[in-house]
Amino acid sequence: MTTERATAVFLASRNAKKIAEMERILAEQLPGVRVLGLDDVTDYDEPVEDQPTFEGNALLKARAGVAATGLPSVADDSGLCVDALNGMPGVLSARWSGRPKDDGRNNRLLLEQLEDVPDDRRTAHFACAVALVWPDGREEVVHGRMDGRIVREGRGSGGFGYDVLFVADEHAEAGLTSAELDPGEKDRISHRGRALRELAPRLVAGLRS
Ligand code: IMP
Repeated sequence: MTTERATAVFLASRNAKKIAEMERILAEQLPGVRVLGLDDVTDYDEPVEDQPTFEGNALLKARAGVAATGLPSVADDSGLCVDALNGMPGVLSARWSGRPKDDGRNNRLLLEQLEDVPDDRRTAHFACAVALVWPDGREEVVHGRMDGRIVREGRGSGGFGYDVLFVADEHAEAGLTSAELDPGEKDRISHRGRALRELAPRLVAGLRS
């Protein structure tokens, strides 16, 4: 048990699809480290995300993860920032169209809001902050982003959230939305993939020290 606790990390999130992405990315980067999520820890209560920045909300969630498990905890806070909407929905992305959270309703609202925005001004990016909080109180935060644009009709069945409406710059030519990419390809270019790959060596170093 002592060895397991020393080499385990908790992913502090109630979003099962996001956890699946984080587990997939970290599993590649952290051989030998046990990655615990919702299936392993059921009494994690996600705090109210009331901070104005991705970083602030990621820290809230990772601190709550440590409080619930006593393990080093990783949390992502992320969102879609649309230039024609002055960076919104940003930190409000999950519940942009109201509660309860509904990806389909969020996407319909986004399409309505951008209806009159011409193609050359439909630029956007996904942003995320990933926080790592250690049981002794040390805190680290890394950031990632993925640039692209918002299309006029949803396509694809992979990913989650706004993926069906987002074409990353890397796939502009083929016009593939993030929901049409193989999971590994989304991880390679995504805001979350970039941030977690930057964080992974620090996590490994901290677990081994
Ligand atoms: P939160 O970080 O749990 O507050 O929620 C982030 C929200 O941003 C999600 O519910 C999605 O609506 C959106 N989002 C974040 N990352 C992605 C992504 O990789 N693809 C699509 N939508 C995302």
